[in-house]
Amino acid sequence: MDLKNYIASIPGFPKEGIIFRDVTPILQNADVMRSVIDAFDAFVKEQNADFILAPEARGFLFGTTVAMECGIGFAPVRKPGKLPRKSISETYQLEYGTDELCIHADAIQPGQKVVVIDDLLATGGTVEAIIKLVHKMGGEVVGCAFVIELDDLNGKERFGDIPVCSLTHFA
Ligand code: IMP
Repeated sequence: MDLKNYIASIPGFPKEGIIFRDVTPILQNADVMRSVIDAFDAFVKEQNADFILAPEARGFLFGTTVAMECGIGFAPVRKPGKLPRKSISETYQLEYGTDELCIHADAIQPGQKVVVIDDLLATGGTVEAIIKLVHKMGGEVVGCAFVIELDDLNGKERFGDIPVCSLTHFA
């Protein structure tokens, strides 16, 4: 089974010059979703992780399922103004301007080993901000897992020695 057959490519979305890679066909096919979750599950166990974090919104689709499969906890990472309780935040650079990610202040306990899961790795800015949030809370990111990695953007260079699992690659 070639995972690429279950990723739709949409030129010009959300704006001109971008090819959007859409993972929703994976979710429409239970066998394909199962193979993705099994691959992430094996990676999380290899890293001896005891917690999963994922950014909104597509990261939640995979992150919560993997956490359940592995029998470990999950917490959401969200844009400002979405989380109802005391949160900490990290600002990060976009091509034009900045963005911010937030996590509940009690989401991770000091010493916890976290895997970050998302649908796609582009520049790495999103996950780099999550790594900083985990450090602020006294945890450690022991791995990052993506359905898709965009190789030409070299996003994983921002993660230092942290192991990266990407299930498929585009240029
Ligand atoms: P980065 O911070 O530049 O690595 O961008 C990754 C974030 O942008 C992830 O949370 C992705 O969900 C989102 N993203 C960027 N491009 C795409 C795409 O083509 N398809 C789906 N998500 C994307």
